[in-house]
Amino acid sequence: MWTRRQVLAQIGLAAAAVHTLDPHELCCVMPADAQTAGKDLFELKKVGDGVYAAIAAPRFKVNCNAAVIMTNDGVVVVDSHSKPSAARALYNEIQSMTKQPIRKIINTHFHWDHWQGNEVYANANPGVEVVASERTKDNLTRPDAGVGGVPYIEKQLAAVPGEIAKLKADIQKETDPAKKANLESNLQQAEEFQKELQNMKPALPTRTVATTTTLREGGREIQLHVLGRAHTNGDLFIYLPKEKVVATGDALIDWMPFMADGYPAEWPETLTTLEKLGFDHIIPGHGEVRPKTHLAFFRGYFVDLIAAVQKASAEGATLDEMKTKVGDQLAAKYESGFSKYPLGRYRDRVGTNIEAVYQKVVKKA
Ligand SMILES: [Zn+2]
Ligand SMILES: [Zn+2]
Repeated sequence: MWTRRQVLAQIGLAAAAVHTLDPHELCCVMPADAQTAGKDLFELKKVGDGVYAAIAAPRFKVNCNAAVIMTNDGVVVVDSHSKPSAARALYNEIQSMTKQPIRKIINTHFHWDHWQGNEVYANANPGVEVVASERTKDNLTRPDAGVGGVPYIEKQLAAVPGEIAKLKADIQKETDPAKKANLESNLQQAEEFQKELQNMKPALPTRTVATTTTLREGGREIQLHVLGRAHTNGDLFIYLPKEKVVATGDALIDWMPFMADGYPAEWPETLTTLEKLGFDHIIPGHGEVRPKTHLAFFRGYFVDLIAAVQKASAEGATLDEMKTKVGDQLAAKYESGFSKYPLGRYRDRVGTNIEAVYQKVVKKA
């Protein structure tokens, strides 16, 4: 006999559980037919002398990119992925390049996919500093901050059984062997993720930045800047003036932006402030390393999106009409540039972006 819970899980609690989570969670689950099995977690790419971008490979649970900055007496890592096992994989790779300790972990913002691996570096490197903006430190313990922080671990734990049940149901139904194998890989990843969440011992910031701080780390200058609200209210930008590299977290990515915890009206201005820094290369929170020109493209999307939603609203369009009309209207300029990867593509997010702009900018005006 199945329990009521198991029955519910089979007939739709799975879907319900996923839908009670917000779109960031949905956005970051791999499509069932995507290739995930057997791929490495990261590819390390050299961005400057001793500066690397760890570009995340697609996984069932998304990982952010990390920046790895070597210094004369240690290593600084920006962001730590969605789970300790992913952080451990990168840490092992770093250790194959240097035996020097990790001195600092810098978290760009509080979202789950950027900090849940912190504990790996903290456990292996006594004395490591975990650095974040004041707002991010606050967000990491607030229950209402959004898709990240200690309370959000519980929400993920509550959602995973539904995801697992859905994957099991999908595996039963799938007849294509390749798709079935991918689903089975995703199921294995989901079950491992659940165990990691259950055992998580969050390593929270030990040092905060209010506006700007310059670190002098083993002969390297690392500037930390809070430049205004954008992807969250506490985005931190990591700037290497000599190497002309900036790590931007999700305030500037090579996917479509995620706006649920963001400030679309202020976002372009924050990017304009960032643009004034002298850099050539962007290590984004997601996607490949990009040249500085990407900033204008990404900012242009906000400017055009806000203008289009304002216009459609003034003309009396409903939200559903806007989602279709504005989505199609901006596609010529933005769809291909924002659809380069299996995740965070134009059509995945344009509807929720339109809704976010409508709720946060137009209705509030
Ligand atoms: Zn992210
Ligand atoms: Zn984020």
